[in-house]
Amino acid sequence: MTFSGQMINAETKRLPFDAKHDGRFEGQHILSIGQFSLQDLVYIFDVAEEFRLMVRRVGALELLKGRILANLFYEPSTRTSSSFIAAMQRLGGTVIPINEVRYSSVSKGESLPDTIRTLESYADVIVLRHHETGSAALAAKYAHKPVINAGDGIGEHPTQALLDLYTILQERAKVSGLTITMLGDLKYGRTVHSLAKLLSLFDVKINYVSPEILRMPADLITHLDGKGIKQTQHTDLDAVLKETDILYVTRIQKERFSSETEYNSVKNSYVITPDTLAQAKPDMVLMHPLPRVGEISMEVDDDPRAAYFRQMEYGVYIRMALLALVLGKA
Ligand code: ASP
Repeated sequence: MTFSGQMINAETKRLPFDAKHDGRFEGQHILSIGQFSLQDLVYIFDVAEEFRLMVRRVGALELLKGRILANLFYEPSTRTSSSFIAAMQRLGGTVIPINEVRYSSVSKGESLPDTIRTLESYADVIVLRHHETGSAALAAKYAHKPVINAGDGIGEHPTQALLDLYTILQERAKVSGLTITMLGDLKYGRTVHSLAKLLSLFDVKINYVSPEILRMPADLITHLDGKGIKQTQHTDLDAVLKETDILYVTRIQKERFSSETEYNSVKNSYVITPDTLAQAKPDMVLMHPLPRVGEISMEVDDDPRAAYFRQMEYGVYIRMALLALVLGKA
């Protein structure tokens, strides 16, 4: 399929589209999904699409040659961390990877602002994952170089939401008119927090399916209500499975629970199996930000509706676009 960010504009009437983007990403932080307009999305997705085709054709570019990314991860990560590294390297830049903060001065008690000040004196852009909500915003307060939020506790994961939306567009060629069902840990899952906010720019219906104690935060539901988004809440997937166009499954976030007993009470709440897919729409798209820990059976991996591995690959192009944009090179 030929994809273009223009698709977004074609199917939404909420904002007028101005083809001339003012390049306001240069030098900017990426902290929350709320900072993006539809026009921004069109621009980012067009750049991502161009990079996708270029990677396919030539593998790597020299656009960010001489530029350095500091990849600072205080929490575990496989995909986000390595896709930012791949993105920077595909664009010809280099990376200072700090995945094990316990081997850095953080373990000596260095504050986040001091670590950020240090890294920005060596690098041109900082990607930060941290266990505290608001940490990326705090880092940005002290940084003179762009900070990209790669997940701040249970807060947000804006680059994941962008790649999730890009995946929906790649898979379904539209967003408005779709029914999206989010399943799993909606309380602690930062990916669903950012994605729900992003989807509120479109004319969609969102179903939330979770155990009672892991419901989507009430303030987020109220926020989306205010934007006229139709939302429903359930504990049972069967209530909404048949109407679902996009099923977005999440892991129960063990590390966020205060007690093991509470985690154990909900850990196996949902498992997507071939039986689940047998009842779903033939063109439903099954997504997951990964890692999965049992909530999607490996038996469904070969079903064409299982999009989570494709979703992962799309992340590299979105992150290439974001790095190039904040560094003023797109
Ligand atoms: N990788 C995603 C995140 O960092 C999802 C998860 O960990 O469950 O939020």
